[in-house]
Amino acid sequence: MSEFRWDPLKGTWVIIENQRVRHPGEFLIDRQKSSITICPFCPGQEGKTPPEVYALRPGDTAANGPGWQVRVVPNKFPVLRIEGQLNQQSDGLYKSMHGIGAHEVIIETVDHKRSLAQLDIVETTSVLQAYRARLLDLRKDPRFRYLQIFKNHGVEAGAPLPHSHSQLMAIPITPPVTRSELNTCREHFRNSGRCLVCDLLAREIADGQRIVYNDGRFLILAPYASCFPFELRLFPLQHNHDFALQNDSELADCARALQEMLRRLHRLLGDPPYNFILHTAPPVHAQFSKPGYWETLPRDYHWHIELVPRLSQIAGFEWGSGVFINPLAPEDAARYLREIDLSLNI
Ligand SMILES: [Zn+2]
Ligand SMILES: [Zn+2]
Ligand SMILES: [Zn+2]
Repeated sequence: MSEFRWDPLKGTWVIIENQRVRHPGEFLIDRQKSSITICPFCPGQEGKTPPEVYALRPGDTAANGPGWQVRVVPNKFPVLRIEGQLNQQSDGLYKSMHGIGAHEVIIETVDHKRSLAQLDIVETTSVLQAYRARLLDLRKDPRFRYLQIFKNHGVEAGAPLPHSHSQLMAIPITPPVTRSELNTCREHFRNSGRCLVCDLLAREIADGQRIVYNDGRFLILAPYASCFPFELRLFPLQHNHDFALQNDSELADCARALQEMLRRLHRLLGDPPYNFILHTAPPVHAQFSKPGYWETLPRDYHWHIELVPRLSQIAGFEWGSGVFINPLAPEDAARYLREIDLSLNI
């Protein structure tokens, strides 16, 4: 079983995978090579994955066979396991707990060759509905402090399987990135009585130079302090802390904006590898909460999607300092992406 370990110097958790002993030589192999010949995500191969936990089956077909449009299965090689207790241990300096969690794969399409950017709005909406359904289900488990949905696209971004999919990890800790955002938003709300993201969006709309897309419902921008070239964030303009509370029509609007984001990047940069991460409110379980801690969450947090194209490696200065050097101003990135005309068929 893998293990969560706490680094007391950095103040962060890591997951140590120790399902089997690895030989150093395994880390030297060409990571571009995939040994998989039959794709387990293709229709007809349902038996090669663990049984599905969610599927959109328009023709009402039987589970774990063909006929699905979107399918969610537990990861066959999960980093975290769903069975067992956390077994938290501490000797004063070092803390650890069992690698308990859920690790699921959202297979976005039956078509082995189509990427998420090539799906239509209805198909993309179905993927977002699968995200919502899994969030609503997994948040019932009180062991999970956070549910992280993310997508790796391309080998360089950590997706060795080409068949388009995203992933969900339910973890027994609040990740530091999330905790920091939650704290910052709560602090701003305490000081001003307003949502930080709503304030930022108002300022960005007034300024305009970093906006890539705004259809009045969803907005895409290149963040003012972008760490990476063409880093993007997608926000609902209507305040909402929790992605899982969005209704079908809001998810369709989100799908339209997500398609704008992916297609513009695809057109400008030629199908770049990327990661995107859904940042949404954590499930609130009464037994973990400090009194009043989550009280203002629905008003102070604002869900969003963060996307980073993987165009360059993170170098020593960035790793060592946590300060990134970005060779492209976000104002220029936004202009390039804004000027893309998606109606042109090139
Ligand atoms: Zn496939
Ligand atoms: Zn807001
Ligand atoms: Zn965020």
